Amino acid sequence: MADIPAVPEGNTILVSPVGKIAPWITRAIAENMEEVFGFKARIIPLLDDISFAFDPDRNQYHSTLILEELAALCPKVGLKVVAVTKEDLFLPILTHVYGEAQLGGTACIISISRLITGSDMGGVNSGAGRIVKEAIHELGHCFDLRHCEDDTCIMHYCRKLADVDKKSNQFCRYCNIFLSDNIRALGE
Ligand SMILES: [Zn+2]
Ligand SMILES: [Zn+2]
Repeated sequence: MADIPAVPEGNTILVSPVGKIAPWITRAIAENMEEVFGFKARIIPLLDDISFAFDPDRNQYHSTLILEELAALCPKVGLKVVAVTKEDLFLPILTHVYGEAQLGGTACIISISRLITGSDMGGVNSGAGRIVKEAIHELGHCFDLRHCEDDTCIMHYCRKLADVDKKSNQFCRYCNIFLSDNIRALGE
């Protein structure tokens, strides 16, 4: 585990690469988390080996098990953990997930395996844009936001890449108010 810098407890969003993740990806997530959620973000690896969550029949990783481990490993400086992995994730009832979060909890994870296609990594609807959208979406769940029916809202549930590309990288007005209220309640 990396050295944890001394900062006040529980006010930092930890962006946590699981295994080898290109630095531009963790950097893009960290910058956007700071901007969107208003907390300092730090890139701190917490978990390297996720073989405990591997399902050999599906050749995928069970995301719920990884979240439990991340939450347990989160140091005191961490308010929330956003993990990012290259491995394909699943929930038992679904073929795959782009990510999963503990609703109102500490940890979330996204998988980049299905978000990056081909070589186009630049624009908002390409790999980088999708990764940031999914990270904001999952962290939104950690701040207790549910799925939103507005298909342009970042909290809209996406099954396909076309859905991810269709939604914006913003919270709708309703979700934005809910998020602000929940963040304010943390300081009370
Ligand atoms: Zn969701
Ligand atoms: Zn919304």
